[in-house]
Amino acid sequence: MRECVSTSCSCVRSRKGFRLGGNNRYLTFSPSFLLMKFREIAELCEKLEKTGKRNKMVELCADFLKRLNPSEIGSVVCILLGRPFPRGSWEKLEINWMILRDPILRVIKARPEDMETAIGKTGDLGAATYLLFKSRQKPQRLFIESPLEILEVRDIFLKIARVKGPRARERKERFLEGLFARSGPLEAKYLVKIITGEMRTGFREGLMRLAIAKAFGLPEEAVMRACMFAGDISRVAEIAAKRGEAGIRSLKPFPFRPIQPMLAKVAESVEEAINLHEGTTALEYKLDGARVQVHKSGGKVRIFSRNLTDVTGSMPEISNQISRELAGRRAIAEGEVIAVGRDGFPLPFQYLLQRFRRERKIREMMREVPLELQLFDLLYLNGRSLVDLPYTQRRGLLEEIAGGVKLTEQLIVHDPQGGERFLNQAIRGGHEGVIAKKPDSPYIPGARENAWLKIKPTLEPLDLVIVGAEFGYGRRHKWLSDYYLAARDEKTGKYEIVGKTFKGLTDAELQEMTDKLKELGVRREGRRVWVQPSIVVEVAYNEIQRSSKYPCGMALRFARITRIRNDKSPQDADTVERVGEIYAKQAKRRVRNR
Ligand code: AMP
Repeated sequence: MRECVSTSCSCVRSRKGFRLGGNNRYLTFSPSFLLMKFREIAELCEKLEKTGKRNKMVELCADFLKRLNPSEIGSVVCILLGRPFPRGSWEKLEINWMILRDPILRVIKARPEDMETAIGKTGDLGAATYLLFKSRQKPQRLFIESPLEILEVRDIFLKIARVKGPRARERKERFLEGLFARSGPLEAKYLVKIITGEMRTGFREGLMRLAIAKAFGLPEEAVMRACMFAGDISRVAEIAAKRGEAGIRSLKPFPFRPIQPMLAKVAESVEEAINLHEGTTALEYKLDGARVQVHKSGGKVRIFSRNLTDVTGSMPEISNQISRELAGRRAIAEGEVIAVGRDGFPLPFQYLLQRFRRERKIREMMREVPLELQLFDLLYLNGRSLVDLPYTQRRGLLEEIAGGVKLTEQLIVHDPQGGERFLNQAIRGGHEGVIAKKPDSPYIPGARENAWLKIKPTLEPLDLVIVGAEFGYGRRHKWLSDYYLAARDEKTGKYEIVGKTFKGLTDAELQEMTDKLKELGVRREGRRVWVQPSIVVEVAYNEIQRSSKYPCGMALRFARITRIRNDKSPQDADTVERVGEIYAKQAKRRVRNR
């Protein structure tokens, strides 16, 4: 807090605005000289990246949050986590590397080759931009421009997200050029990192929760709980700053505010699940579709996907069914949507994706790819949060209100044999496997814990990110058809290559993939193109081997793409640690089988 230098009064000023002497209430206006500059957040990111120590990172971030004006807090939290907007937001920048690169080059009068060299040296788009900005003189402007403020950056991001229609690219580039023209090397570096979603400071949501707790003097447990229902952690920070502990404790499930979905860990067998669940487990079919959270209030229905995007428009028959069938005025239920063939068997996931992609021809698609919803959980009913109730009670209530909506097949088992029979029945019915749910467990949003365990009969496929691709040979020469597959390293935030494959995609998919990868390309080496990590694919394989081929020391054998996961972002990809775990289990199994 600084003394008000311009007057002789007893006013004290902080980033919250003016505080009148002795009075603890803040006036709400925020003069611009009190607003945080974007440069300051870039400097904080540099410090976070350099320290690498968790406690220090939390302390640095907490101090920073305390110095902010409440109107800046939400944006700062998003930026520090490398997102332009809160999770679940309708806004999307939709800027690929080509759209981003050209305005940068224009501002510093550099050539594409200069950028390629810088990327080659640094291996990071943000760091490469920093290098170029440092080495080039920005053209002198006739007037002195004020430094960018955080709120200005947020507003320009919003404007970019709202650019639609003809000449959208050109208009987006103009906004970007404006941003970079007012940036120094450090600001430019972090603008690139936020826009490409590759922050790589090692500061993630868990640490942000601690920092919010520390900054506003709140119990960690209260912050953690609030994050489950707020849709995004930036909202928790905003409420914490304005209304303290009472404010964040009042956050509860509420219709049309999507809740972080609870996730499942992996179990090797039904027996393991029964042991982990202390003797009894509830098995449900694991359907191979898309997770949905359906929210209903009065006559309105909205459907959210696994990553909390609103997908109501792509499945009108499901929202009609919910509005018609689901009893209860207000409810939040969860389930899986699958595509079903004429024979009643589930269709492969690709069919479902067609529905998500082609919203315009939706009537036609409704006939071609009929959808079916199967519900498996109930989180809120008529003003009451159900998340703390045991699974069995939630399921009981769901059965009462489901009306004509199907529920996933379920069986409560105590013995492994009965469970294995149910698993085989699920596989024969065309499903992926089963999910074992601990009968007395609450619904823990966002958690991946032992309370839910997925059991599949084969080696579990991995969700990996494409980081590079090569042009094929012969018939495939026009396509980028051979892909470098990478897992996420949680410690460094980098993507480590674990395999390569040219198998699994149809000609149409190869064409689509080639178009996308060309847009994402950041560097070319002969036939090879390195791309921004963006596309997630599900990969099946026969084995994981120790190998010196890739820096992480492991390689997938006989990898093949089983589907393109447009519903997942690179942050949802499997980790190097997970690949290591599967490798270790495989090795153990081999010893056992000898
Ligand atoms: P994974 O995406 O492989 O981590 O597996 C968890 C996913 O399985 C969930 O996000 C759901 O989309 C899906 N799923 C399918 N059937 C069920 C079920 N009965 N209960 C919970 N999740 C299910």
